[in-house]
Amino acid sequence: MTPPHPGPASGSPAAAAPHPSIVPVPAFADNYIWLLRDRSGRRAAVVDPGDAGPVLAALSAQGLSLAAVLVTHHHPDHVGGLPALHEAYPDAVVHGPASSRAEGIDRRWRAGDTVEFDGFDARFEVIEVPGHTLDHVAYYAPRIGDADPRPVLFCGDTLFAGGCGRVFEGTAAQMSASLARLAALPDDTLVYCAHEYTTSNLRFARQVEPGNAALAERERGTAALRAERRPTVPSRLALERATNPFLRADAPGVREAAATRLGRAPADAVEVFAAVRQWKDTFRG
Ligand code: ZN
Ligand code: FE
Repeated sequence: MTPPHPGPASGSPAAAAPHPSIVPVPAFADNYIWLLRDRSGRRAAVVDPGDAGPVLAALSAQGLSLAAVLVTHHHPDHVGGLPALHEAYPDAVVHGPASSRAEGIDRRWRAGDTVEFDGFDARFEVIEVPGHTLDHVAYYAPRIGDADPRPVLFCGDTLFAGGCGRVFEGTAAQMSASLARLAALPDDTLVYCAHEYTTSNLRFARQVEPGNAALAERERGTAALRAERRPTVPSRLALERATNPFLRADAPGVREAAATRLGRAPADAVEVFAAVRQWKDTFRG
């Protein structure tokens, strides 16, 4: 039997009701390894298994075997579990970015490719989102199965609930283009990122845009969820567009905040993004 999902109740202003086929496997201090069950309820796919231990425990607790893995980028907290998972489930197919230096990827994909695993009723479109790392990809399924019509996005460390990943390998221009690509997905898209960073992300977002009422409401809802140690992920893409400063270079408040940081009017959306991202890098809330 599958245990009840520990996610937020529907109707929370801070998070979306989770997809019925997807559960979080918490790892390290604040990672989520997402586990997707297939149609039969006997096999699973996992996204970004940084640690094999919690994945193996979740599979055995839920009576599942591992059929597939999706990897978004090469960082150890996303791929560290691959060798041990391969040992336990040698037939599980590991899908990852074509350009990745990560080891243990069986099938490598590029922008526009479609990843399909048998029995999961899901076709994932590969979206290249360089910036956090150069190899980073996101996986987007317009729909998974029949029980829930909402699209699903696995976006690793690119788009976070209320924030975005640090720009380690790419440029600000690459990262802002990558975020714009994700921001163009449908309103109802469930955003499954790889970390529970929402509380601190929103604390920063409030500094950028203190007058944003949707953001204030999201912060209250997030505090309520975290007080009960519930995940704030997934979120809804429309909520990200309304409250996430890294998707809001066009919002007057965000532009103004960037202008204050720069000491002049920003030339374009990339400059707005770069100024806000740099501020966040040194922000101690
Ligand atoms: Zn990362
Ligand atoms: Fe990470």
